[in-house]
Amino acid sequence: MDYLESLNEPQREAVVYNDGPMMIIAGAGSGKTRVLTYKIAYLMEQGVEPFNILSLTFTNKAAREMRERIEEVVGSDAKNLWMGTFHSIFARILRFEADKMGYQSNFTIYDTEDSKSVIKGIVKDMNLDDKLYKPNSVLSRISSAKNNLISWRMYENNNELRIEDEASGRHKISEIYKEYAIRCFKANAMDFDDLLFNTNVLFHKFPDVLNKYQDKFRYVMIDEFQDTNISQYVITKKLAARFQNICVVGDDAQSIYAFRGANIQNILNFEKDYPDLKVVKLEQNYRSSQNIVEAANSIIRFNQHQLPKNVWTQNDAGALIEIFKTATDNEEAKIVASSIFEEKMTHGLRNSDIAILYRTNSQSRAIEEALRRTNIKYKIVGGLSFYSRKEIKDMVAYLRFVMNPADEEAFKRIINYPKRGIGLTTVNKLRVIANENNLKIWDVVSNIRRFISGRAATSIEQFADMIKAFQFTVEQKDAFEAASLIAKNSGMLRELYDDKTVEGKVRYENLQELLNAIKAFSEDPEKEDKSLDSFLQEVSLITSTDQDADEDTITLMTIHMSKGLEFDHVYIVGMEENLFPSQMMLESRADLEEERRLFYVAMTRAKKKLFLSFALQRYRFGKLIMCEPSRFLGEIDRTFINARGVVSSSFSNEPPRVPSGFTKVGSNNNQPTNLNQRRTSGFNKKTTQVPDNFVACDPNDLKEGMRVMHVKFGEGIITKMEIDGADKRAKVRFDREGEKTLILAFAKLMIL
Ligand code: ATP
Ligand code: MG
Repeated sequence: MDYLESLNEPQREAVVYNDGPMMIIAGAGSGKTRVLTYKIAYLMEQGVEPFNILSLTFTNKAAREMRERIEEVVGSDAKNLWMGTFHSIFARILRFEADKMGYQSNFTIYDTEDSKSVIKGIVKDMNLDDKLYKPNSVLSRISSAKNNLISWRMYENNNELRIEDEASGRHKISEIYKEYAIRCFKANAMDFDDLLFNTNVLFHKFPDVLNKYQDKFRYVMIDEFQDTNISQYVITKKLAARFQNICVVGDDAQSIYAFRGANIQNILNFEKDYPDLKVVKLEQNYRSSQNIVEAANSIIRFNQHQLPKNVWTQNDAGALIEIFKTATDNEEAKIVASSIFEEKMTHGLRNSDIAILYRTNSQSRAIEEALRRTNIKYKIVGGLSFYSRKEIKDMVAYLRFVMNPADEEAFKRIINYPKRGIGLTTVNKLRVIANENNLKIWDVVSNIRRFISGRAATSIEQFADMIKAFQFTVEQKDAFEAASLIAKNSGMLRELYDDKTVEGKVRYENLQELLNAIKAFSEDPEKEDKSLDSFLQEVSLITSTDQDADEDTITLMTIHMSKGLEFDHVYIVGMEENLFPSQMMLESRADLEEERRLFYVAMTRAKKKLFLSFALQRYRFGKLIMCEPSRFLGEIDRTFINARGVVSSSFSNEPPRVPSGFTKVGSNNNQPTNLNQRRTSGFNKKTTQVPDNFVACDPNDLKEGMRVMHVKFGEGIITKMEIDGADKRAKVRFDREGEKTLILAFAKLMIL
């Protein structure tokens, strides 16, 4: 049992304890995921059957990686583990039990785009103002209702929700919710939230079904527990009710999905729900250098709401954190690209050792351009993934409709693509006929002559015949052959082939690539079910971090997507006020704390080196705006920072201009490798501690003559205020250290 040797004491203790509920709330990089992985391997070694273990992860990729590790210990039996995201696992159960819920087992899973399109249709049909009832916001209202286990019936009768909706002038949301639920049901479709919501309904309404799964899942494990919502919590609580062998791991400091309904309360409730809970703490970080661990600790301390933890590491002090100050967003991108180039040369890194993280997807554009110019290969995780491209969604819609002809969203995509002269008016007419006669859209389409005549009827009849032929093909042939035939005979392949523009060629190649993926799927010896249906199920649950990386590429992604991952070098870009922390998240202290946790997550992805950058000007919403450095930069303990002021023409041979305030603060190039050693040689540990009541003050509050305190230099008096370009500086005469010039965006000064 070598793997037990590779664990520290509390980790090992957590792995071998399996008699009852357990919660591991531990710091970033402390081996939580590793403990879960080995716990499963250990259980299997003890003779527990894999199909009795349920393990829930944040991405399918994480599940795959865990499974591979487990396989190394216990062999191929690991394939039979129930391991995956909440959505994929419960989709599987719902397919199995679909008939009980009035669904067919081949139900479609609507993605967000489908859901929004349904809502748009409803808003139109109900003659509501589409500016007031924006699909996005209506959907998020419905989504949070579902995640709080509120059905449309409950919503209708809930006074509080009604008052809230009326206050925002949208008293029809409850009606939209009802209609949305009906339309999804009629289309034999569930959206992402339904997968959890309906599982709850299933377990609630059918105790025998619940019983069966309670019996089956003797051990339940949840990774990233801090980001579960109420709906997920209730499901797992029900499932574990019999054996009570539930183990959850998480980190409250990394809770970053409150805006989507995740509830930190789940961690606190857990102790109440399981009185004989065993709680394990892991505090040793194995991932990151000391500088990174300590810097991350120094910022998270600014949050009031957190469980006490002391994350530490035995790793080397490592490099200081670099901060790049740049003139514009384009310049920031260039500097990041050139730094990556340099780092790769000096440290012999692979691209895959490096990640660039940002707060919002739109920040990737400038960076992509710079990387392309520098010839550095990259991939974007999230954003527009392969399966979100229009041509792929169109083709998948064909396959979806062939398999589930009740799927109205798929129908809308393909009925007139490629063009076959069936206009929007006709399509709407078909939907009205279906509604009035309480029929599914396919019932109307496949019997069109009963309802309409004329040219449109002929076109629709041809379309219906084509779909019937496809259905026959799917029954007769394997997934790849059937899909190829559908691509060809639907006219899609031709349509894309005929488009000779650059984008057209790419789209054609993408369609070929989809067919390749289906081929690989249908030939995969590991797949039990090689049907087209099963392929579609997998595709609809792909999470954005799941694309496989064959090529050696840099990873670009939002911080939200980076959870649980680790890279040698991490660049966090756009460290500016109103961008990070996001403008939308500055409404309350709780929002700001969530943004800070997000920053904590970002920092703790780095193993060896962390780079932060900000621009003084940036294009946002089509306008060039002035930016101020993020308050989070000011919160990092200066001991761990090497701030380089990099200005324009950074690709020239001039050495970067270093603002005077920085030279004293952190450019200690002869840093000893051991942090403790460095602390004793020059930095008094006590003065680098952030006082509990410390608030980095707004530079605008400062005036000459004020007495201030600096975290490292102690107390002093402001002798002069200066403005240099976008920088505000203060000359401060410190009692102990003499006069220094500080850049106020960075220097943490407290007014005394
Ligand atoms: P996060 O909070 O980011 O999800 P985590 O707590 O899940 O992090 P892991 O990803 O399990 O942490 O571990 C972080 C890194 O430390 C991994 O590379 C892991 O292999 C390594 N690690 C964990 N425990 C040990 C150990 N006892 N000895 C050596 N390496 C370890
Ligand atoms: Mg983890």
